[in-house]
Amino acid sequence: MKLIRAERLVKTYRTGEVDVPAIRGVDFAIEPKSFVVFVGPSGSGKSTLLNMIGCLDHPTSGQLTVMNTDVSTLDRRAAAEFRGEHIGFVFQDFNLIPVLTVFENIEYPLIMVQDWPEKKRREQVMRLIEAVGMSGQEKKRPDQISGGQKQRVAVARALATNAQLVLADEPTANLDHDTAYHILELMKDMRDEFGTTFVFSTHDPKIMGEAEVTFMLEDGRIQQPSPKPVALHA
Ligand code: ADP
Ligand code: MG
Repeated sequence: MKLIRAERLVKTYRTGEVDVPAIRGVDFAIEPKSFVVFVGPSGSGKSTLLNMIGCLDHPTSGQLTVMNTDVSTLDRRAAAEFRGEHIGFVFQDFNLIPVLTVFENIEYPLIMVQDWPEKKRREQVMRLIEAVGMSGQEKKRPDQISGGQKQRVAVARALATNAQLVLADEPTANLDHDTAYHILELMKDMRDEFGTTFVFSTHDPKIMGEAEVTFMLEDGRIQQPSPKPVALHA
C-alpha cells in the first residue's frame, strides 16, 4: 500500500483574469515510513504540493490519495477532521505559542484537536519530550530555549496526535547548516521510533542527500533524476 499517491495532479491558481499554473501534472507515490524531500527553487511549486497533501488546498484536477482517502473531494470540514486525525505539521518558523510552556505547546493539539483525557495527554507529552531530548525543559517557555530546542518542540508537537504523516515546508530555510542537519536527523530518528512518514521541502540542494527519496521540482513538474555519470573510457 502507498501512503500517498498522486496521478496527473494539477493546481492552477486563478487570480482575476490570469491563471497561474503552479503544479502542471505530476505523478508520484510515497511509501509508508519513508523520509522524502521535494527539492526545487523558489516558485517551483513545493508549498502548493505540500498544501494539497496536507488538505489545506484542493487540486484543480487529477487524483490525490492520502492513506486511501481521495483528499481532492473533501470539503473544508472533512479536510480539517482528516488533518487532525492523520497529519502533523512542522512550520518554517516553528510557530510555538509564546505564552505556553514546552509541555503545553506539545499538549496543545491533544486538547484542541483530539480531546485526549488528561492522564493520557500527560503520558504522551512526557514520552515525546523524552524522545526529542527535551527532558527537564518542559516548564520553560519558547523565549527561554534555543532555536535548536524550539525545533525539537515543534517536531514533538507534530507527532503528539500520533500522526502517521508529518509535513514540513522548508523547515531548514532559516537555519545554519549544522542546525538544519540536526533537525533532519531528529526527524529521521522519530521516523525510526514511531514509524511516521516525513515529507519535507527545501530549496537547498545540499539538504537532498539527507533524504531517502528525492523528488526534484521545477516549474511545477517533477524532473527525472539525472542519469549517473558514465565513464568515458575504461
Ligand atoms: P515554492 O513553495 O516552491 O516556492 P509555491 O508553491 O509557493 O512554490 O508557488 C508555485 C507558483 O504558484 C508560483 O508561481 C507562485 O507565484 C504561485 N502561487 C503560489 N500561491 C499562490 C496563490 N495563492 N495565488 C496565486 N499564485 C500562487
Ligand atoms: Mg514555498
